[in-house]
Formats: sequence, C-alpha cells, structure tokens
Amino acid sequence: MERLGASSPTVQIHGETVTGGIPDHPAFRNIVRTYAGLYDMQHDPELRDVMTYPSPTTGDRVGTSFMVPRTHDDLIRRREAMKVWADHSLGTLGRTGDYLNSCLMALSESQAWFAQADPAFGEHTRRYYDMVREEDLLTTHTLIPPQANRSSEAAHQLGGELAARVVDEDDNGVVLRGARMLATIGPIADELLVFPSTVLKGKPEDAPYSYAVAIPCDAPGLRFVCRESMDYGRGHFDHPLGSRFEEMDAVVVFDDVHVPYERCFMLGNPELCNAFYTETSAVVHMTHQVTTRTTAKTEFILGLLSLMTEGIGADGFQHVQENIAEVIVALETVKGLQRAAEADAEPNRFRVMTPKWEPLNACRNWYPKAYQRFPEIMRKLGAAGLMALPTEADVNGPARDDVERYLTAKSLEGPERVRLFRLAWDACCSAFAGRQALYEYYFFGDPVRMAGAFVGSYDREPHRQRVREFLERAE
Ligand SMILES: Cc1cc2nc3c(=O)[nH]c(=O)nc-3n(C[C@H](O)[C@H](O)[C@H](O)COP(=O)(O)OP(=O)(O)OC[C@H]3O[C@@H](n4cnc5c(N)ncnc54)[C@H](O)[C@@H]3O)c2cc1C
Repeated sequence: MERLGASSPTVQIHGETVTGGIPDHPAFRNIVRTYAGLYDMQHDPELRDVMTYPSPTTGDRVGTSFMVPRTHDDLIRRREAMKVWADHSLGTLGRTGDYLNSCLMALSESQAWFAQADPAFGEHTRRYYDMVREEDLLTTHTLIPPQANRSSEAAHQLGGELAARVVDEDDNGVVLRGARMLATIGPIADELLVFPSTVLKGKPEDAPYSYAVAIPCDAPGLRFVCRESMDYGRGHFDHPLGSRFEEMDAVVVFDDVHVPYERCFMLGNPELCNAFYTETSAVVHMTHQVTTRTTAKTEFILGLLSLMTEGIGADGFQHVQENIAEVIVALETVKGLQRAAEADAEPNRFRVMTPKWEPLNACRNWYPKAYQRFPEIMRKLGAAGLMALPTEADVNGPARDDVERYLTAKSLEGPERVRLFRLAWDACCSAFAGRQALYEYYFFGDPVRMAGAFVGSYDREPHRQRVREFLERAE
C-alpha cells in the first residue's frame, strides 16, 4: 500500500485526472485494501508455508506462484497456494498476482525460445521475473487494440495510428504510441505488461505492432482511462462483493512512452509474438491458475444457491434440484479437468513441469459459456427475494420490526435473510454481477476465436483414422 501511495500513475476517472493518492481515492480505496490483505496472508504463520517458498536467489520467502514447478507435487503446491487467494475473494478477483506471476515464471524459463529472436530478450525476461518475484510486484496486462473496426487490421485503422505501436527506437529502447484495451486493475498495479494477443499476419506493416514489453504503471506518458466504478462506497452489508472486490478496468493510452531496452522481451517478430504464450507454456500455467479460481467461484455459487433455496424452503422442488445439479456438474467438470491436467503433466522442453494442455484448454473454452447460466439460475431460484431487499440502514433502523416479521424465511431470521440475499443480488443482479459475467466470458479472449484455435491445434487424426477404418471394414 505504501508503494502504491508513493506511485503516481495518471488515471482519468469520473471526470478528474488523478495522479497520486490512489489508496485513498474512493474508487480504489476498498480494492486496494483487499489486495493488501491478500499480500498480508503470505505473512500469516499458518499460511506461510503454503503461500511462500524460499527464493532461489536470496532465500527470502517469496510467493509460491513464482515457483518453477519441476515435479507433480510442485504443481499441486502451486494450486494449493492459488486456491487460498481464490477462496478469499470467492473467485471474483480475476487479476490477483498469481495469474501473471505464472505467466512470467513460464516465460523466464524459456530462454532458448526467446533466443530465436535475440538471446538478450531471454535474459531481459529472466531478470524482470526475478525483480517481480523478489519485490512481489503486482502486474497486469493489456493485449487488445481498441474496438474501432474489427474487420480491418490494426495497421489500417486511423492511418495506423490507433493501436499502440513502436514509433521510435533508439540505443536505449523503444517509444510506444497509441492505445490498447483493457487493463483490469491498471490503476492499482505496479507494472503493466504490454504483451502480444491478436494474431498478426506477419506482413512488414505488422512489425511495429509486434512486441512484448513491461512498463511501470506510473511511467511518463502512460494514461489509464477508467470506466465508472462499481464500488458505490456502500458497506459490506449492502454491497458485499462490490465493496470489496471491484477490480477497475481501463483503456490504456501510450502518449510516447519510452520503454528501456532491458524491459523489452520481444520486438518486431510477428510469428514469435503469435506463439508467445503457447511455445513458452505460459498459457498453460495461466490456465492452471484460472481453473483454480473458477473452482473457488463455482464452489461459492453452489454454497450460495444451497443456502438461498434451503432458507426459503424451495430446496425440495425437483426443478430447483435440477438447476443446482447443473452447478454441481460444472464444479466437478472444472475440478476433473484440472486434476486430469495435473495427473498427465510432463516436463516441457525447458524442464518445467507443465499440466496437460488439452483438458485445461477444454475448460477455458467451456467455462466462459457455462458461467453465464449461474447468474440466470440464481435469479430464477431467488426470484422476488432478490428485490425484497431493504438496505442495512433500514434493517437496523425504522424498518427493523417489519424486516423481522415479514422478511423472515423458513430457516432464516429476517435480517439474516436480507444479508444472504443481498450477497446473491450482488452475485447475479448488480452492476458488479454484470461485469463478472462479461469478465468470465471475455477475459481470456473471444470464445469464438478460442474455439477456432482449439479445433486447429487439437490432434483429431486418430479419430479420423478410426472412421476411415470403419468405412473400410468388410464384415
Ligand atoms: C471485464 C473485462 C476485463 C478485461 N480485462 C482485460 C485485461 O486486463 N487485459 C486485456 O488485455 N484485456 C482485457 N479484456 C479484454 C478481452 O481480452 C477482450 O474482451 C477479448 O479479447 C475480446 O475482444 P473484444 O472485447 O475487443 O471483442 P471484439 O473483438 O471487438 O468482438 C466483438 C464481437 O465481434 C466478434 N468478432 C470480432 N472480430 C472477430 C473475428 N476476427 N472473427 C470472429 N468474430 C469476431 C466477436 O466474436 C464478438 O462477438 C477484458 C475484457 C472484459 C470484458
């Protein structure tokens, strides 16, 4: 929190330009404290051995999500640490440090792959990972060009001046100009990873758009243009999730941002940028973190639905059980796919124990769509109970008698029921809930294009062959 207080990112929000004091700004105050709490957990004597391990360079305790897995047990240790953070936010925080720590870990081990472009890039990646690990920096990333005209490539939009690109290169580094979207938690992060995402065709005009660099969030020329905050400054009773877990999203503007060469991990190699996450196994470790988080989230939804339906005596109806079964099936599917990926893990070519990609890829293709049913089910089973919701001021004020008398439920006192259903409302009806659904659908990329990539990379030949053999069978 002290580090963030001393930082001066340029943040446009609610009509003002903020250049400091982020930990005390109403839009960020609560989420900053939540993130600080996550880091404090690493110092809790009871969690220390799960959440941290001795640094390979200093011996100091550092976050387990930085640990390079060499064995199956290491993968499980990583998952157990990630689950502690995921449980703390009921799976609603998408950008806890472990997500990109996992990515940086995999990149830093892929020296030989970076050396195809320039051995210095591998060295830069390793040193950057070491710094982030030792200082426990919080990173976020921004990948996508602004949504202006998706039928046209970045190089052809606004005369090529829309998407962030390298406009100058000198002996010390490169200069970026243009914009990208989005950077979740950009205003509260230490570092911004400006990494490749959309597939580049590899034409010469794509070269300025192909790069991977890291920038401090308060670098001169960098601006975050935020959406409206969904933390409305209300207490935990009224907005149990929004008052704790509102991760801001921001468009990122690069107004001639200078990036020193030692912070450049790839420059001007469209083909290598296209393979950045797959060839290094970064996407596999990121997805391992994501399935851990979505396990926590699905467990939360199952617990919430159970308490809601039992509370109002609806749990015995068959269609209610059918809906709850849908969530149980989802939970067991996520856990099963993750376990399969861990069980079939193998060292990659850089000796990093790497979960089997196909089950994790199946999960990341399926969950974004599966999640959309959960708020729908909550709304269906919660019904008007999700609107019969006085605020804390009413429950503890003049409406107390009415709440106690008329909002009582089968197994819940009136105030207790209001507290539970306010949580459900924040999980399926509020602005916070809407953003959660959008986040689950899109944060990993467009599911349509992810499906295309999955089909393209999946080995279907044995299955084709079986059909061919059947067609040729005589008897
Ligand atoms: C809450 C939230 C947080 C996010 N946080 C981050 C973040 O921290 N960092 C980050 O980098 N990104 C982040 N993203 C952005 C995310 O990566 C994108 O939403 C995702 O990649 C899809 O891109 P898009 O939103 O620009 O959609 P578009 O590409 O504009 O798609 C819009 C529609 O057009 C269709 N479409 C567009 N182009 C094609 C095509 N070529 N082929 C087929 N269909 C097409 C899509 O299927 C979709 O239906 C976040 C998104 C959300 C919603």
